[in-house]
Amino acid sequence: PTVPADVAAHALPAPAASCLPALVGTGLPVPLVDGTTVAHANLDLAASAPALRSVADRVAALLPYHASVHRGAGYASTVCTAALEWARTTVGRFVGARSDDVVVFTRNTTDALNLLAGAVPGAVLCLDVEHHANLLAWRGGEHRVLRAAATVDATLAQLRAALEARPTALVAITGASNVTGEVLPLAEIADLAHSHGARLVVDAAQLAPHRRVDIAATGIDYVALSGHKLYAPYGTGALVGRRDWLDVATPYLAGGGAVVRVDAVGDGSPAEVTWTAAPHRHEAGTPNVPGAVALATACEALDAVIDEAAPAHERALSERLDAGLADIPGVRTLRIWHDAPDRVGVHSLTVDGYPAALVAAYLSAEHGISVRDGKFCAHPLLARLTGWAEGAVRASLGLGTTAADVDRLLAALRTLVTDGP
Ligand code: PLP
Repeated sequence: PTVPADVAAHALPAPAASCLPALVGTGLPVPLVDGTTVAHANLDLAASAPALRSVADRVAALLPYHASVHRGAGYASTVCTAALEWARTTVGRFVGARSDDVVVFTRNTTDALNLLAGAVPGAVLCLDVEHHANLLAWRGGEHRVLRAAATVDATLAQLRAALEARPTALVAITGASNVTGEVLPLAEIADLAHSHGARLVVDAAQLAPHRRVDIAATGIDYVALSGHKLYAPYGTGALVGRRDWLDVATPYLAGGGAVVRVDAVGDGSPAEVTWTAAPHRHEAGTPNVPGAVALATACEALDAVIDEAAPAHERALSERLDAGLADIPGVRTLRIWHDAPDRVGVHSLTVDGYPAALVAAYLSAEHGISVRDGKFCAHPLLARLTGWAEGAVRASLGLGTTAADVDRLLAALRTLVTDGP
């Protein structure tokens, strides 16, 4: 599809993308409803981002050494074990872990937050704007959900009042909203939590692919992230943070690798177990070594661009998209706060007169553009922003997104509202 002149008129200079790491599988030919094919415009990176080329290469280099990890004396086993522990150190370094922090490998962010939920020694406080992962993980314990106010300042005031009102062990906050991309002032929230004796966990599933997360510098106590949103394949995430809670918590998974010693007297009583310390305490069973190495390789590649090149690329594309969307009649973009100090390239919108599912299907079938539609695992927030039944369309940008992808989306939406599907 070509870009109409009136859309191009809004175009900001195209950002230079050459210094950004390459992805596997960009621009794949995808079929359209008329039987032709077009290069895929993947604007759904917030759901799962394609892997980096360096990640694919590193995993391919590791696979010949596939062997038992941690318990093998053979050469390939020592390579696998070293690779896993290299991955642990690399992921920790990427998020600015303190020297005594622990990196626990998990399946994803959801897994990481559920693991931490089993270690929190008290009440948890979060906002109603969270992804379900950060809303539901805490339900087993004492859990309070605050309705976010219309501004960031007012929301922080509510958090402060809630912390003053009741003892709280943990404040659980999303790093960047998976619906609006908005980012809260995390260092300020860490100070607020600490001054009331609480800790802060940041759900960085959406933040980490876009912005530097430096937990030591920001004062964040725990961070959870997912490899499949960080340009690595599915199946690996991490919980990084303070050791003490994790060292005494009931192991997240019980089994081999999480123990120092097991005794069974065989008289019908349960086996006696001495659990080991974190991180292995929470990683029973054979770990996903290629997954951990993939995640760490993605962290290594992102590390080089996350301070400047990647945010600059994404901001330029976001400005281009915002400017174009503002000019299409009937298109509304969703915001929680309007005054958030930062916003990553996650844009949710509605189109008057068209259900979100229809818009998404139209973009894919007629234009080869992938977006996400629905309520984005954030039902309370979407119910507030769009009404319970509606949902929205989400376009998300990142490494590998081009100005041409953005222009195609704008052109397709303009065609939809002027000509219909
Ligand atoms: N938190 C946020 C903000 C997310 O966007 C997501 C995924 O969309 C999650 C948590 C859950 O991530 P995962 O499905 O990888 O556990």
